[in-house]
Amino acid sequence: MGRGNKKLMKIKLPMEMKNLLKKTQNIVNKYTRIKYAIITSDGLMARCFCCGKMWILDTHKAKKNYHCSHLFREDLFASVRFHHNNLRPACNYCNINLHGNLAIYTEKLIDEIGLEEYERLCFLKNQTKKYSAMELEQIIFEHEELLLQPEFARKLQLY
Ligand SMILES: [Zn+2]
Repeated sequence: MGRGNKKLMKIKLPMEMKNLLKKTQNIVNKYTRIKYAIITSDGLMARCFCCGKMWILDTHKAKKNYHCSHLFREDLFASVRFHHNNLRPACNYCNINLHGNLAIYTEKLIDEIGLEEYERLCFLKNQTKKYSAMELEQIIFEHEELLLQPEFARKLQLY
């Protein structure tokens, strides 16, 4: 069953699609967390995009506290659920207790990517999007490739 078999891709069952979506989200989220993690002499360090809190990712608990946060929720805005501008790392407190800490998230994101890119993201988030299995496979493949880059491979060794 090769990646290129369009006929097979089209008849994926809902459950398979659900699993594929989950797999895609998992790898994109992982990519985001690793991308923004910082290599230090004490190990890999997390930094919350919203509150700026920093901690070393040396225990299971420390890693569990490190989330990939969506500015626009993935369940409501499917079109940007894998969009890199919609994804930044956050601590558990900002992401869960403060529901994303969105006012600060928005402010910091605009500072980082600029108003034009932010407005583009706002426009994109309102587009209707239904992913095909092939598209999801492609996103997974692209992120697997990204994670193989030397910078990521080094961080993953410390993670
Ligand atoms: Zn935080």
